[in-house]
Amino acid sequence: MGEFELIRRFFYPVANAEAKPDVLLGPGDDCAIQTIPEGHELVFSMDTLVEGIHFPHQYTAEKLGWRSLASAASDLAAMGATPVCFTLALTLPEADVDWLRAFSKGLSDASRQFGLALVGGDTTRGPLALTLQVHGTVPAGSAIRRSGATSGDLICVSGTLGDAGAALEFLHLESPTPEQADVLNRYHFPEPKLALGQSLRGVATAAIDISDGLVSDLRHLLLASGVAGRIAPETLPLSEALVSLRADARELALYSGDDYELCVTLSEAALAGLPECIREQLTTIGRVHDGEGLGFEGYVEEGHETGYDHFGSVE
Ligand code: ADP
Ligand code: MG
Repeated sequence: MGEFELIRRFFYPVANAEAKPDVLLGPGDDCAIQTIPEGHELVFSMDTLVEGIHFPHQYTAEKLGWRSLASAASDLAAMGATPVCFTLALTLPEADVDWLRAFSKGLSDASRQFGLALVGGDTTRGPLALTLQVHGTVPAGSAIRRSGATSGDLICVSGTLGDAGAALEFLHLESPTPEQADVLNRYHFPEPKLALGQSLRGVATAAIDISDGLVSDLRHLLLASGVAGRIAPETLPLSEALVSLRADARELALYSGDDYELCVTLSEAALAGLPECIREQLTTIGRVHDGEGLGFEGYVEEGHETGYDHFGSVE
């Protein structure tokens, strides 16, 4: 099977799975074409996943397809962008038909679920790695940045935290318990909070998605905003599965990554003004104040590796 047959067979079906009026030309030409509706801005981001670093060796192809698009789409969620389309640069060691079929299925499911049309890409041979560029749009000026948090804002998170981190030790299990299966599902099939992000446009003062871990990602937000924050770890939202599996559930919720929930700041009045169905997706865990750094209420942080840094500390 040649490169072009491979693309036609396994990626054109994904491209056709999700039709978007903003996409004027999908894969097959030298470039794709996207129109930006009047009064809107293009919001885009790129993510690379490397085997052995971002996903385990021999990782199931279908899960990889889902997870790679989910993690990329999570950045659109954090900006409050409406998803439009994506490109995929795929490097493969070989053209394994079973692998490609499963990968294409996971990618296609995610594409439909998140409303992201595949519009093109690049296919090369080499060690397994993927790069995805996702495109979304926002009404001009309304993207939620990391830099808008102000003193007095509440700090809130969506969903529950720590589940995906707890799954890491169960990845090899053949028949997990229901609780283990719950956290494994969070690791394998993350659901970026796209609708929540869009409904927080003009409401949240700042947002970031939690990919590296709450403490690490919240610190990025606070630094970008030039403010300090204080959170109460006992208020972190934990799933029943996580609590039943781990005595150190709160540590995982603070420091482990891959949950793809949102961490946002907003005024008390803005939170109170949200419709119940949005408000109930958020848990208040702390507050923004003047100064710098992240403090903890009733908790002593001791020697944690916070977040993943590919280059460690480079002097
Ligand atoms: P070019 O040589 O002009 O850069 P390519 O030969 O790399 O084009 O790709 C041919 C067409 O197939 C392009 O439209 C490209 O976007 C598309 N394509 C290549 N790889 C993929 C992929 N993995 N997923 C989707 N579309 C792809
Ligand atoms: Mg070309």
